Amino acid sequence: MNRSRHNPGRKRVTKERRETVTKQVRALGLLSGGLDSILACRVLMEQGIHVEAVNYYTGFCVQTHTRALRNPEPGKEPARHDALKASEILGIELHIVDIAEEYVEIVTNPKYGYGKNLNPCLDCKIFMVEKAWQMAQEMGFDFIFTGEVVGQRPMSQRSDTMPKVAREGGATGWLLRPLCAHILPETEPEKQGLVDRERLFGFNGRTRKPQMALAAELGIEEYPSPAGGCCFLTDESYSRKLQDLWDHRQSKQYTMDDIMLLKVGRHIRPNDRFKIIIGRDQTENGFLRGMRQGRHAIRAVGIPGPLALVEGEPTDDDLALALRMVGRFGKGKNSDSLTMEIRSPTGALSEITTTPLPPQEIDDAWYV
Ligand code: SF4
Repeated sequence: MNRSRHNPGRKRVTKERRETVTKQVRALGLLSGGLDSILACRVLMEQGIHVEAVNYYTGFCVQTHTRALRNPEPGKEPARHDALKASEILGIELHIVDIAEEYVEIVTNPKYGYGKNLNPCLDCKIFMVEKAWQMAQEMGFDFIFTGEVVGQRPMSQRSDTMPKVAREGGATGWLLRPLCAHILPETEPEKQGLVDRERLFGFNGRTRKPQMALAAELGIEEYPSPAGGCCFLTDESYSRKLQDLWDHRQSKQYTMDDIMLLKVGRHIRPNDRFKIIIGRDQTENGFLRGMRQGRHAIRAVGIPGPLALVEGEPTDDDLALALRMVGRFGKGKNSDSLTMEIRSPTGALSEITTTPLPPQEIDDAWYV
């Protein structure tokens, strides 16, 4: 990439610049697959700009998890990955980049704190912009862009935080927001004529009507509903389970297994020593089966029922309680006695006869 044309102080149109603008301009966008990011790509493509996109896998992506967990019903399409689908519709190259390991620091120690749940949106956006700008420079893109709209999100899309995202991501001047460019300071690609500012927009606020009108004008018919969440960290129930995990470990660290397990099953914590994760259907039972290594696994013998995993340091009494509790969630819940199988963390199997726990003995406060 020719860095000389990215000198913000430069005003005169030089010979070098004239040569530059005759080459095809290349832009790299952050693509979630939602309407705004699709529109941002299309608006630039309409100007003849070569657009590619990047989508980051953080470990908390809802769609990636849903695709991995849920087999499609016969005749139905697999759960869609919105960014992949959007890149197909747009006909652009998509780079899916796994940042899950580095992302731990963002989730556990966000400089700007959390949103309504454990979503560190401002730190997350800064991190992604920084990554995208590094990638853009390495791959010879002229600038980066997002589909952000001023005033649309409470944390990362405000008029005071949007410049901060560009600045702290090291991309001041080189991060274009095509959908709201008219109400933001001019960026370098606009100043240098790489992008026609007149053909950008000034959308503002939470209403999505202008975006929907623009989509209709551009013939974009297929896009996900704005209500569909894409990140587990904005989910209240998920955040509660993550906070519970941190509280009981007395540490905010987590592994990939930890955050995957928080996405499935009922989580029940009868005391500080252990937690039981009980599968809610066949797919969750199958998923939990794959995570048995290093944990106690419990299921009823000869009667349909869930598979459950035990996390923590349970005593023998705790395991006896766990067996009774898991019995409660299967078809044998009203039996006088049930044979339960317990597999130790090292794989040793035992069978124990017990009675299912009566519902009145399960404290509501145990549900995480
Ligand atoms: S919702 Fe999740 S992925 Fe999106 S900015 Fe917030 S923390 Fe990042």
